[in-house]
Amino acid sequence: MQLKEIDLSLIIPVFNEEENLPFLYQEIKEVLNSLVRSYEIIFVDDGSTDNSFTILRKIQAADPSVKLIRLRRNFGQTAALSAGFDYARGKIIITLDADLQNDPHDIPALLAKIEEGYDMVNGWREKRQDKFLTRRLPSILANRLISLLTGVRLHDYGCTLKAFRQDVIKNIRLYGELHRFIPAVASTLGVKIAEVKVNHRPRRYGRSKYNLFRFPRVILDMLTVKFLLSYSTRPLQIFGLLGLVSGSIGFFIALWLSYQRLILKISSANRPILLLAVLLMVIGVQFITLGLMAEIMIRTYHESTGKPIYHIREIVDHEHSESSCES
Ligand code: UDP
Ligand code: MG
Repeated sequence: MQLKEIDLSLIIPVFNEEENLPFLYQEIKEVLNSLVRSYEIIFVDDGSTDNSFTILRKIQAADPSVKLIRLRRNFGQTAALSAGFDYARGKIIITLDADLQNDPHDIPALLAKIEEGYDMVNGWREKRQDKFLTRRLPSILANRLISLLTGVRLHDYGCTLKAFRQDVIKNIRLYGELHRFIPAVASTLGVKIAEVKVNHRPRRYGRSKYNLFRFPRVILDMLTVKFLLSYSTRPLQIFGLLGLVSGSIGFFIALWLSYQRLILKISSANRPILLLAVLLMVIGVQFITLGLMAEIMIRTYHESTGKPIYHIREIVDHEHSESSCES
């Protein structure tokens, strides 16, 4: 049986937010009921250890538009969002935090942007209500770096309040702490991304789940994303280049040393530069081999997962024209 399609899916990751949930639910309902659209609200309980699940269970029992996914343990916000994405049926998918810091009243503005023709809309917490030194400063630095490295110019990657067209998010796989890189990953699919200024409120109840220890992880994730974005279909281009550069420098030093030894009869003993030459050549060979290995892995990956190396926005022909007329 084909399930009925829904206009909107709201996805909310929840980890120990018991005090916030009743207020959040009320606010969301107000906003959603003011829109004339069918919707579902998906709460993903990310292994909460407080009463969050019991409260959600009560909310769910009284409201058929509420769906509840309970993860077996705490897998992290990215995984929770990912579970929501897999389950969601809405044509447009919206994510927001459960801690009331995002304002549900911004949802109509995001929707308007999507309807303007954008594939993805990112919230921008212009006046962010968090501590400066531990939260806002690292986030400013990270945002600058991410936008520099990925070439996607946004102000606030960490904002959970986002909206997507379904086909965009269903094509993105998330790992680790990667949810803040969704815009960057999405940009590789060729999607149109917009940014909307959103309200941000201080946390009233419960505690933030993150601290400064997250920063190094974000940096490592950034490297992964940069690599995946730029070189994932041609790893030999980067490793091979490094290998060639290092190998050639080593080779020319060795050549020069041989010339001195064989023609000029200068002894090579006690010359540390000989070690450098050998090291550079060995590293060069290693890099090139690594690049080749990566090429093989990429091919296995693309072929075994059947993941195409392109993404289609729409197909225009006589069979498809009917369905596009409907929407
Ligand atoms: N969250 C989650 N799993 C986690 C950590 C956080 O589902 O392991 C949820 C949390 O309940 C909240 C959202 O992710 O709804 C954002 O978390 P938080 O407010 O602590 O982050 P901050 O706003 O401080 O960046
Ligand atoms: Mg928060």
